[in-house]
Amino acid sequence: MTTFDANTKGIFVNGEWREAKSGETEVVDNPTTLEKLTEVSNGDFDDATDAIDAAYEAFPEWSKMSPRKRSKILYRAYELMMEDVDRLGEILTLEQGKPLKEAKGEIKGAASFLQWYSEEANRIYGELIPASREGNRQFVLPQPIGVVGAITPWNFPSSMITRKCGPALAAGCTVVLKPAMETPLSAIEIAKIFEKAGLPKGVFNLVTGKAQEIGEAFLTNDKVRKITFTGSTEVGKYLMRESADQLKKVSLELGGHAPILVFEDADLETAANLTLASKFRNAGQTCICANRVYVQESIKEEFSKVLLEKVKQLNVGNGLNDGVDIGPLINENGTEKVQDHLNDATDKGARILCGGTKWDGEYEGHFFEPTLLDNITDDMKVMNEETFGPLLPLQTFKTEEEAIKAANNTKYGLAAYFFTENLDRTFRVSEALEYGMVGVNEVFPSVAEAPFGGIKQSGFGKEGGHHGIDDFVVKKLVTISGK
Ligand code: ADP
Repeated sequence: MTTFDANTKGIFVNGEWREAKSGETEVVDNPTTLEKLTEVSNGDFDDATDAIDAAYEAFPEWSKMSPRKRSKILYRAYELMMEDVDRLGEILTLEQGKPLKEAKGEIKGAASFLQWYSEEANRIYGELIPASREGNRQFVLPQPIGVVGAITPWNFPSSMITRKCGPALAAGCTVVLKPAMETPLSAIEIAKIFEKAGLPKGVFNLVTGKAQEIGEAFLTNDKVRKITFTGSTEVGKYLMRESADQLKKVSLELGGHAPILVFEDADLETAANLTLASKFRNAGQTCICANRVYVQESIKEEFSKVLLEKVKQLNVGNGLNDGVDIGPLINENGTEKVQDHLNDATDKGARILCGGTKWDGEYEGHFFEPTLLDNITDDMKVMNEETFGPLLPLQTFKTEEEAIKAANNTKYGLAAYFFTENLDRTFRVSEALEYGMVGVNEVFPSVAEAPFGGIKQSGFGKEGGHHGIDDFVVKKLVTISGK
């Protein structure tokens, strides 16, 4: 069954679907089978410029529309997405590889951002500030920043888009979206949903195509006032450097290197289940996936036994099939990186408890077996660099102080997790971890109503919650002289 439109164009500018001006297309593969799914337009600088112009033209009307009306359109988009979860989930699995259950979960999560921001559109309040100069009045007026250039990754092809576009549109901004070329089909579906929901022409524009060129159009065009990016730290730093010239507002959701700390007072079953969920969902390809686990020495043996049994039970395969827990990695670079981290670890003395090879199954795609490693030392790559794959090292610690120090010993600061049943420790460790998000007996921080985002080299800016609106709003001070 073909769930997506075979004549997919991929460029949606000013309410019109069209080809790239150059006529070029790019093949979209299924990462499970490596078969071609379809082709989409390979847009470039010129296509992006058209989209920016359209967004710029649409801005005055959209920004002045009453929040209530904007809210209604976003809510309709939420409903349309929820009505189509099965088909959208299938498209997501086809182009990205994650198990269907996870894909449908992502679509529901993506829809929840539209719902939340349809509500939040009505609550972008200003401030009235009592003046020190007698008779004066002064107030702070929140206004949409303008045209937004959004750049999204392939690991969450749907929810990363709505997490950015939901608040941007709610605030009254207009948007040009550049999705990852590995997964443009989910982005195309979202554009169709916005179209159907009644978003006026030019308010949301989509350009699939050449990353460097579209990025350059965003960076060099003065009409773009804000760039919102989720992806690698390297590209994030590049975008920040290059946007300095026009002092664009930037928000960056970048890489992470999440630690999990398992204290001796933890509920081991919960800790093992959630460690598994954190590390192996999306085959380890999320920026908040656990990259390293530290277990208190006294429970190491017991914990690794419980965890090992669970890892061994994970099923690798085609995400469309029932009972599959782990799909393919997105491309060969993905498996090569996992292999490199694994080789580096075993060269330095790590022991493979299970897995340890590329999966030799019935599909051509880039699969890697879920792998658990023991005998870890801190100099291993896996303990310092983002693996983005199903490889999990188990390290030990003796004291809480030592665990916190190890957890914080990274340039990243996105998410960290720990397991404990002790209330004092819950507060102490939450406060001591240098991360934008901390999970206590919990590993899923990304929800519509709460602020997601990192510190240090994991970036800045928040997505989700009322905080998510701030990135798309500028605050104007109006001072009125009293007579
Ligand atoms: P990954 O290595 O996980 O693919 P990237 O940071 O390369 O992460 O990609 C995230 C998003 O950034 C994708 O949409 C990608 O096309 C885009 N991207 C990559 N390089 C650039 C660039 N130079 N300018 C703008 N966008 C880019």
